[in-house]
Amino acid sequence: MKVVVVGGVAGGMSAAARLRRLDESADIVVLERDAYVSFANCGLPYHIGGDIVDRDALMLQTPESLRESLDLDVRTGHEVLSIDRETKHVTIRNRHSFEEYAEGYDALVLATGATPLRPPLPGVEHHRILTLRNIPDMDAIIDVLDGGVASAVVVGGGYIGLEMVEALRHRNIEVTLIEALEQVMTVVDREMATILEEHLAVNGVRVLLSTRAVGFSDADGSVLVDLGTEQITTDLVIMAVGVRPELARRRGGPAAVGPWCGHRRPAHANLRPVDLRGGRLRAGDRHRHRRGGGHPVGWPRESPGAHCRRQHRRA
Ligand SMILES: Cc1cc2nc3c(=O)[nH]c(=O)nc-3n(C[C@H](O)[C@H](O)[C@H](O)COP(=O)(O)OP(=O)(O)OC[C@H]3O[C@@H](n4cnc5c(N)ncnc54)[C@H](O)[C@@H]3O)c2cc1C
Repeated sequence: MKVVVVGGVAGGMSAAARLRRLDESADIVVLERDAYVSFANCGLPYHIGGDIVDRDALMLQTPESLRESLDLDVRTGHEVLSIDRETKHVTIRNRHSFEEYAEGYDALVLATGATPLRPPLPGVEHHRILTLRNIPDMDAIIDVLDGGVASAVVVGGGYIGLEMVEALRHRNIEVTLIEALEQVMTVVDREMATILEEHLAVNGVRVLLSTRAVGFSDADGSVLVDLGTEQITTDLVIMAVGVRPELARRRGGPAAVGPWCGHRRPAHANLRPVDLRGGRLRAGDRHRHRRGGGHPVGWPRESPGAHCRRQHRRA
């Protein structure tokens, strides 16, 4: 049995590790586009803020350690461009050599995650408007901060927005938080959000609720954030307004071929367990046996992403 896993972070690597435990003889290939696998996403803001001093502490595994401990064939810098479900193979680009090649599979796991949203606002491509998903994003933010940042605007008062507010305040940066809704952290009740908002104020954060960024422009290398009623000039903007599934992002792109972009329910493929059914793999919302059987490849009880899955279930 040969399983190809696309995406090598929390979802992909959990699935690969679980599959190994279910089948010691399976040939398991993990394809990860970026340079890092199985890193601690949750720690990224804390390294930015200085709580986690050692960058290497974020790297939980390497292809070598995964080969040694679980006999996984993990290939970083290898991007899956398309899937042919008829012939059961994926087309892959080696991002180092630019070579393209095909890899066959008996079962395929899609664990390509979700990418931060950049709403299509004027000026949103400014080089000082950054998002945070992975190690290169974190490095890019730290580069800007190390170059000297006095003030920052964080757009979005959810988990990642608030974690970034905290990280920036730890670096003594003046922070304005912009939230479109009437409270921060819409996953909690108003009463609890009020406590958070008071805490933010006590810690010197300017919180603008029911406020939207409507556009951005350059101001001598800094960013001018247009709020409609007010304009703020700042050294850095962190955009933390949510995510969208990686597969959908590819729809219509040059690599958008066949079933890859036609996958009907990609949205939470990153966050779901998978069921093996006669050689087909499907992603599901919850860890459960689907009607018709199959072997669930479930999440560990305390997997990363638990709070996000709760959020997705509520959505
Ligand atoms: C800053 C931050 C803080 C967080 N904090 C917490 C927390 O405290 N608690 C918590 O539970 N969760 C937290 N999360 C969420 C958690 O990190 C995610 O739920 C988890 O990373 C999702 O894992 P995933 O493997 O599904 O997707 P991802 O982590 O997005 O990984 C998908 C991988 O697939 C790769 N990929 C995509 N397309 C292709 C392709 N075509 N070919 C090859 N590879 C591809 C991508 O490069 C990516 O590395 C946080 C996330 C962030 C960004």
